[in-house]
Amino acid sequence: MKFRSLLNGSLLVSFREALFSGVAPDGSLYVPESIPALPADAMNPDTAHTLPSVAAQVLGLYIDEIPFEQLQRMVDGAFSFPIPLVKLEDDLSLLELFHGPTLAFKDVGARFMASALSYFLEQEHRELTIAVATSGDTGSAVAQGFLNIPHISVFVLYPSGKISTLQEQQIATVGGNIHAVEVEGTFDDCQHLVRTALADRELVRARNLTTANSINLGRLIPQITYYVWGLLELQRQADWEIDRKLAADVCVPSGNFGNITAAAYAKRMGAPITNLFSASNANEVVPDFFRTGSFRPRPSLQTLSNAMDVGNPSNFARLQSLYDNNFAAMKNDISSTSVSDEETLVEMRRTYEHSGTILDPHTAVGVAATRRLKATRASSGPTIVMGTAHPAKFPAVVTKALGITIPLPRQLQEALQRTKQSTRIPAEYGRVKKLLMS
Ligand SMILES: *Cc1c(COP(=O)(O)O)cnc(C)c1O
Repeated sequence: MKFRSLLNGSLLVSFREALFSGVAPDGSLYVPESIPALPADAMNPDTAHTLPSVAAQVLGLYIDEIPFEQLQRMVDGAFSFPIPLVKLEDDLSLLELFHGPTLAFKDVGARFMASALSYFLEQEHRELTIAVATSGDTGSAVAQGFLNIPHISVFVLYPSGKISTLQEQQIATVGGNIHAVEVEGTFDDCQHLVRTALADRELVRARNLTTANSINLGRLIPQITYYVWGLLELQRQADWEIDRKLAADVCVPSGNFGNITAAAYAKRMGAPITNLFSASNANEVVPDFFRTGSFRPRPSLQTLSNAMDVGNPSNFARLQSLYDNNFAAMKNDISSTSVSDEETLVEMRRTYEHSGTILDPHTAVGVAATRRLKATRASSGPTIVMGTAHPAKFPAVVTKALGITIPLPRQLQEALQRTKQSTRIPAEYGRVKKLLMS
């Protein structure tokens, strides 16, 4: 399987090339040259599937440069935590993607990307340096995902005093090959410093420098796995006599639209997904697109579901390309809506009172959107909502919505107890370069 640039269908590269470069030379994103079909027995729940075996099967269809046994070992590491399908109500289940080290779905992609990079570096006897700028969540997923991965050093630049204590602890206490850089400035300063470093040829050559942002294919492709897995779990839980060949709607709380692109790939591969429900917060670029047909990026608005506060979703072009930019075809598969902060809080309350489940604000946007979109689509089948983060990551919102304090899971307690070890620097490129060169 080759991967092509979004702008130029004849610019074909290997998985390795797409993984290491992130963005195509023409500045656009890479997409799979074609979408492979799942094998005939992939959705048979009577076969003894495990999460890693599903992952190896899915990833093997896209990645032919890594021997299958090796790929299997890699996914054993990347998918080392459970992804349970939990029933919330009749015809409404949550796929809990948040049991990894940073308690959010981004762990899956970050961990697989880390092991894939390490595999190729080992083959080539090379070392790699990664620099990322973070406003919180990406940095912690990358720090945890790349921890102790051979041949790779990571520098995470974060704005001093502008990320939560929990996020800082997850970035700045891990040590080893993860270097936390506390920048006296804003997130934009951090991003600018990383961009400057990536454009510095001397540094890039000396340190084999790259980045690990969320548009990398090495993060997107492993995410297809859990859609196939979730549908298999649904079939296993269903009343078998009645529901053979059960299909479901899938709802994805979306920000940069990478996760829902993975869902659309799963559907195209043959996973039994009926409708794709795309849930946005007050950042309504995509709901507006589905209303009007025109895609108009705008500055992002701050909401309670802040990992979805994106005004110019960078993966949306990948989703459009999957449908050959055919608006009617997209609308046929995807419904989209926007959920306000007030509606998010109401949904957190309703779900808690109804089932005792505490939703994080991102997942609550998904559940609220599902209730609305099911009605517009006259959909009577089950829906699986992606549980994108653990509620304990958002204690203030949980208290605001439910009036309770939520106990910290083990991963977060451990992070809070460790000693911070970051290097604090002014927002000056010279200082960053010196650090990366040392
Ligand atoms: C990143 C993130 C999202 C948005 O995912 P995209 O792939 O960017 O659409 C949703 N919820 C949580 C908790 C996230 O961290």
